[in-house]
Amino acid sequence: MKYVLIASLIIIILLSIFTCPEKSSIAPDEYPVVRIVDGDTIIAKVDNFEQRIRLIGVDTPESVHPNKDVEDFALEASDFLKEILEGEYVFFRYDQNNVGTNHKDRYGRILAYVYRVSDSLFINQEIIRQGYGHAYTVYPFTLQEDFLKLERDARSAKRGLWAYTDEIPAPSDSIVFYNPGSGKFHRAECRDIGKDAIRIHLEDAQSEGFEPCKICKP
Ligand SMILES: [Zn+2]
Repeated sequence: MKYVLIASLIIIILLSIFTCPEKSSIAPDEYPVVRIVDGDTIIAKVDNFEQRIRLIGVDTPESVHPNKDVEDFALEASDFLKEILEGEYVFFRYDQNNVGTNHKDRYGRILAYVYRVSDSLFINQEIIRQGYGHAYTVYPFTLQEDFLKLERDARSAKRGLWAYTDEIPAPSDSIVFYNPGSGKFHRAECRDIGKDAIRIHLEDAQSEGFEPCKICKP
């Protein structure tokens, strides 16, 4: 009797070991899209929390800032993302380059390759392919060469925003807003930017010797 019990236990354990890989390969976790924040950031419901997801390897014009031209591009980029993701479910893949920060950036956003569940459309890639954003090469990522090639193709075919411009506005993380009144410069999301702020490159603000805002710390 004892041996029968032990034998059946072993069988159960073996069964669970051999069926596990199958289970994990059925489907990755799927999350509903709650909101499109801008052309390269969404909010999805992950384990009952609304989480901000930054799509890696791509950068689109920033939504919130005073430069009117760029604002139009930002709107088009976020409209494009709404078109392909609103009301959809997504799943994520991660890049080995972000293992060190547990796939989060300094704002606590999840850094991910985002796929649409209904047809496995690779969203990060689709944004670049259709000309609504750059390959974002400030931080290394595995698919960099692929994305750069797609960007060149979109640019020469004048797809999306490339129909209007030779230069989609620079990666948002390197853009800051300088307020001539206060002499300080801010991140795009800072509440203290002010109406007269000018959009400039971070390197330019630093080389001009402007003062970084103590609140948003650009
Ligand atoms: Zn600030």
